[in-house]
Amino acid sequence: MSKRLEGKTILVTGASSGIGQSVAKEFARTSPQSLKIILTARRLEKLRGVAADIQKEVGDGVKVLPVQLDVSKQEEVKSFHGKLPDDFKDIDVLVNNAGLVKGVAQAPDILPQDIDIMFSTNVTGLINMTQAIMPIMKQRGESGSGDIINIGSIAGREGYPGGSIYCATKAAVRTFTDALRRELIASRIRVIEVDPGQVETEFSLVRFGGDKAKADAVYAGCEPLTPDDVAEVVVFAAGRRENVVLADSLIFPNHQA
Ligand code: NDP
Repeated sequence: MSKRLEGKTILVTGASSGIGQSVAKEFARTSPQSLKIILTARRLEKLRGVAADIQKEVGDGVKVLPVQLDVSKQEEVKSFHGKLPDDFKDIDVLVNNAGLVKGVAQAPDILPQDIDIMFSTNVTGLINMTQAIMPIMKQRGESGSGDIINIGSIAGREGYPGGSIYCATKAAVRTFTDALRRELIASRIRVIEVDPGQVETEFSLVRFGGDKAKADAVYAGCEPLTPDDVAEVVVFAAGRRENVVLADSLIFPNHQA
């Protein structure tokens, strides 16, 4: 349990599955008496299920609010904060986790709609959320306070064949995050990036349009990370004392080169 997280309000994007779901649960476990957690994604029913799981596991000391939100829709994101109940408005930690990969194709063959959805979710969506929530963090205290935790990827550091657009989106996340951290150095807002290697989630299923056989084949012969492995790093970073920024973490399964 981290005393530093007590009483905080946490917002997680992409909390309906995978890493986002695990991050929300790990925060709840860490500070079960006082946390408020806002779960967002497009699939509201899934979010309600995650909220129910959290309450079942840690009780109702943690307040959980599932909210449907598509991060790629700028107007939806802009009006989102104003619609929150007052006791969920003072957001301390934003976890920008929503993201996806679509298709596997060499660069000349990537479909325009797949390019659009990857950039509008992974890059513009993350920027939309940051622009919407950062002003709340800036108002807190004399020099602001809060954590913006962006989920990047090893794919933002090195390319792989068939993944050029996804890699480009995650490289954009990486440089955006780095620039933002430098812009905020004089404030008490911390900007943190966590870059996972291979994690077993719905990610591959989305990539292959729901084809489970193809998705499962991605993990054949290897032992990927679990979403909980990544969640532990995210929550650890948020729980450091305020002068400590775990700015940049790469987390791999042991087999991954
Ligand atoms: P999942 O597919 O399990 O989770 C992705 C989440 O993003 C879902 O909750 C999905 O919810 C949400 N999402 C997608 N599009 C939108 C949108 N437009 N608006 C709001 N929410 C959206 O995959 P992961 O948990 O693996 O992915 C989480 C993050 O981790 C992503 O940023 C991904 O790039 C990154 N990552 C994943 C790796 C892996 O190997 N799995 C490796 C490295 C990084 P919904 O469909 O309900 O909207």
